[in-house]
Amino acid sequence: MTTAPDSRVVHVRAPGKINVFLAVGAQADDGYHDVAIAYQAVSLYEDVRVSDAPDFSVALSGSVDLARVPTDGSNIAIRAARLLAARTGYRRGAHIDIEKHVPVTGGMGGGSADAAAALVACDTLWGTDVGRDELLVLAAELGADVPFALTGGTAIGTGRGDQLSPALAKGSFEWVLVLSDAGLSTPEVYRELDEHRARHAQDIFPARVAPTVDVDVLQALRAGEPRMLAEVLSNDLQAAALNLEPSLAGVLELGESHGALAGIVSGSGPTVAFLAADVNAALQLQIALSATRHTVVRATGPVHGARVISG
Ligand code: ATP
Repeated sequence: MTTAPDSRVVHVRAPGKINVFLAVGAQADDGYHDVAIAYQAVSLYEDVRVSDAPDFSVALSGSVDLARVPTDGSNIAIRAARLLAARTGYRRGAHIDIEKHVPVTGGMGGGSADAAAALVACDTLWGTDVGRDELLVLAAELGADVPFALTGGTAIGTGRGDQLSPALAKGSFEWVLVLSDAGLSTPEVYRELDEHRARHAQDIFPARVAPTVDVDVLQALRAGEPRMLAEVLSNDLQAAALNLEPSLAGVLELGESHGALAGIVSGSGPTVAFLAADVNAALQLQIALSATRHTVVRATGPVHGARVISG
């Protein structure tokens, strides 16, 4: 007996990410910034399950605070499904179940992972089979971090972050993440950076127009050496995130005083990512930081991008 098509559920898992390097270029006339990012996908996942429906809807569950996630058509997973339907002429909808484990507005690309997962899941459920290249085009239309959530692994992103090239990477890195309830809006953090640069224009070098990822970062990733990578973690948005959320400075100090090799604000924050020497050191650090009443999770990277788990 075959399963009726309308009872099928396609389950896709997509990862969150850490930017181990993020350089922000000068603001262009259209208000956007060119960036240079070294992305690493980590083992904090969004599980997205889609099933056939006459229209589009979303339901949320998961281990993180869901209060800031919309459940109407502005949810990026619905936008992704609608975009795929429009591009392929598909006429029905989808019910999208999102089980979230990536902190919301945490600077780890949770929404982007949902969008990438929804694209892959709907393409599989609907049999539209648009192919990898077209999925990447649709992903870039949805957001700068969405193409990386499709590819996963380790990659360099330039332009808005969406022009991806794979980076050679060896081994795996152990991360300890301190989550925050606060949430920081990415556009606000960029605005703060622009204001900071304008205030200090006399004292700092002007931002590069087309920034690049430092070769030291590429070397550390290629070597798979956490100690090398710890030396070169860098995020141009960190100072701006600290200005908006000063308590993060204390979190960074706390981790470094409890044995982390280095700590960095992840993307636009407020999640703080600590790199540990190995899995034992990561466990110790997780225990120490949990005792200070922070919400702490461990993750390993790099991991795969969005892929079908079942269905
Ligand atoms: P990034 O690191 O890519 O800048 P982020 O991890 O800081 O993003 P997200 O959790 O992806 O932030 O959410 C950003 C905003 O998008 C939130 O304000 C939220 O209201 C909105 N949003 C829309 N759809 C989703 C979704 N499926 N999951 C999370 N947020 C969503």
